[in-house]
Amino acid sequence: METWIEINLSHLKSNYEYIKNKTGKEICSVVKADGYGMGLYEISTELEKIGTDSFAVAFLKEGINLRKQGIKKDIIVFNYVDIKMLSKALEYNLILTIYSMEQLDLYIENMKSDISKLRFHIKINSGINRLGIDEGDIERLISKIKFYGIRVEGIYSHFGDVEDEFFTENQYLRFIKAAESVEAELGEKIKKHISNSPASVLFDKYYLDMVRVGMLLYGLQPLAENNPEIKEIFTWKSVISGKRYVEKDERISYGGYKSDRNRLIATIPVGYSHGYMRQLSNKACVLINNKRCRVLGDICMDQMVVDITEIGDISIGDEVTLLGGEISAETLGEMAGTIADDILCKISPKIERVLKF
Ligand SMILES: *Cc1c(COP(=O)(O)O)cnc(C)c1O
Repeated sequence: METWIEINLSHLKSNYEYIKNKTGKEICSVVKADGYGMGLYEISTELEKIGTDSFAVAFLKEGINLRKQGIKKDIIVFNYVDIKMLSKALEYNLILTIYSMEQLDLYIENMKSDISKLRFHIKINSGINRLGIDEGDIERLISKIKFYGIRVEGIYSHFGDVEDEFFTENQYLRFIKAAESVEAELGEKIKKHISNSPASVLFDKYYLDMVRVGMLLYGLQPLAENNPEIKEIFTWKSVISGKRYVEKDERISYGGYKSDRNRLIATIPVGYSHGYMRQLSNKACVLINNKRCRVLGDICMDQMVVDITEIGDISIGDEVTLLGGEISAETLGEMAGTIADDILCKISPKIERVLKF
């Protein structure tokens, strides 16, 4: 194998248990974007075994994939669904989100009488103005739900800036007001949820019936302060594919980088086609024999070059760590001008996942 991701399943389990013990609520495991780049199949199968209460994905196709892989628990689809695909939600028993009146009308028009067979959660816009029903539309929403017999099983919103306590409380209050008026109108309790990973760590007062967590499961730090209870589940590895000496002023890789001294360098068969971001060119480090080796020159499509002058004695096929441990997703994110989640999501599904127990 030229590159692979090791997934530490005991860390996944301990992260899950940390959240479960902390919140004591239902856990919805968010596995959108191929399980944050970790591998949808591997992560979801394990989470179902561990006992997650439900799953969430962004798109219908991800939900269908989960069902095809044998996932039995509830699956919520957060995002846009192509009308032509709507009947698949029935076929695969997926819960869709009602996030606007216009979208609900399209669903009703297209599903005809089958609309009452679909399962829904309502999404409320509580202040980040992305998707979500506005307060002013709730009355109209309720009358449509009643008229068409639409199955509403839950209602949710999403925090946008948990570290801003005032804004967060405001979002919560807007949400809970909307949610309670929907419940009152429907005459029944439905599942209410708003907390993501950072909120699940910071505020127990917003747990409601369920928390929806992604970052925490994968061991990404949701807050600036490091939480030692959260353990990284991933290590991205590769190997040395070649090595050579270069002299001062010789070029290395694309992009006009010239070595400022004589060096021993090594190539690694991973590049931006694997999702190792090109923005890390000339910046990032990899670990070889537990020593940091800096990337030299541009990251190529399927290769990169690193400095092994200080390491010397290594051979083709020796192991390299690209991400994990000392090389954190947070650090790489900062170097690439982005965030840890982005670093993980970019990791290509074409890379093999190796499970560690
Ligand atoms: C991605 C997402 C989550 C999970 O967010 P984390 O911060 O990774 O826990 C929760 N809810 C919604 C609606 C999301 O899109």
